[in-house]
Amino acid sequence: MPKWMTKLASFHVSSSPLQLSFIGILILCVTSLVRILFRLLKGKLFYRVNNNNLALDPLEFRSFRLIEKAVVTPNVRLFRFAASHPEQLVNVPLGKHIYARAWINGKEVRRPYNPINKPNQVGGCFDILVKIYPAPYGLFSRYLDSLKDGDCVEFRGPKGKFEYQRNMKKRLGMIAGGTGITPMYQLIETILNDPLERTQISLIYANHTEQDIIFRNKLESFASQFPNRLKLYFVLNQPPNSWSQGIGLINEKHIQHHIGYASPSTRILVCGPPAMTKAMMILLNKLGYKGEDIFKF
Ligand SMILES: Cc1cc2nc3c(=O)[nH]c(=O)nc-3n(C[C@H](O)[C@H](O)[C@H](O)COP(=O)(O)OP(=O)(O)OC[C@H]3O[C@@H](n4cnc5c(N)ncnc54)[C@H](O)[C@@H]3O)c2cc1C
Repeated sequence: MPKWMTKLASFHVSSSPLQLSFIGILILCVTSLVRILFRLLKGKLFYRVNNNNLALDPLEFRSFRLIEKAVVTPNVRLFRFAASHPEQLVNVPLGKHIYARAWINGKEVRRPYNPINKPNQVGGCFDILVKIYPAPYGLFSRYLDSLKDGDCVEFRGPKGKFEYQRNMKKRLGMIAGGTGITPMYQLIETILNDPLERTQISLIYANHTEQDIIFRNKLESFASQFPNRLKLYFVLNQPPNSWSQGIGLINEKHIQHHIGYASPSTRILVCGPPAMTKAMMILLNKLGYKGEDIFKF
């Protein structure tokens, strides 16, 4: 008998049941770990092989070229970025955001943005709408504003918990502030252009001045095209003299009149600066809306 077999046999004979069960558990743990690692690796490889045609990757940053920059309002710009291959699909479902990354003054900076184009758009391009903050603020937005056509920025995504299914609620009550319009605009455009959709939307949109209202013309043209499906109410805290809509900050009365009290058929979506979002939660609770009735982007 070979030496190693005699050793193993003697180990078997001399080992206590406790030692044997310990070895058994150890073998079980190691094989389970190997199996888990194998599955994880297989999942990642599968993802890579089957998603070559997707422009964005949720795990790794990819480089996109700036191909267009447009002035939307005095301090908001639209940036159009292109993937390396024009046939790639920009895989950003409704209401999800992506992360931009750049090295600014030698430091890595990341910021989330909501693309505004149609979800899963072919053509390898996507648009983000960005408010440019004045110095000393606006580290990333001022960097974006300084880019020229052909410059590259890295993005990864999509990310976010928002899920939307066609006609999931009879009514959507949207409350947005400033660039918080981005996910709302994407939803409004997609819902109203979908012939199978029946969802009614009420949007309350807050800004400082009339010039700050992003996509006002597009929103108003949707509202006149779909008068029973989209209602708009703009609130300004620096309104012109002739202003006939909301004045100041969004208050309980604005929500009560333009969206209404909580009901099982209404879902509320809120997107804006943190202070505004916090204030809206208090007002919405007063009108009977609870946690699950509200989604904060
Ligand atoms: C999920 C998600 C999606 C987003 N989508 C978008 C989008 O589509 N478009 C968009 O423009 N932004 C979006 N944002 C915000 C964006 O990620 C950045 O926070 C924004 O671009 C500002 O980054 P920045 O580096 O330019 O400015 P920062 O250097 O981070 O400075 C901006 C901050 O400075 C502070 N600040 C500015 N002015 C003043 C002042 N006068 N006094 C005191 N404090 C001041 C404010 O706190 C402000 O938030 C999103 C954020 C989240 C979380």
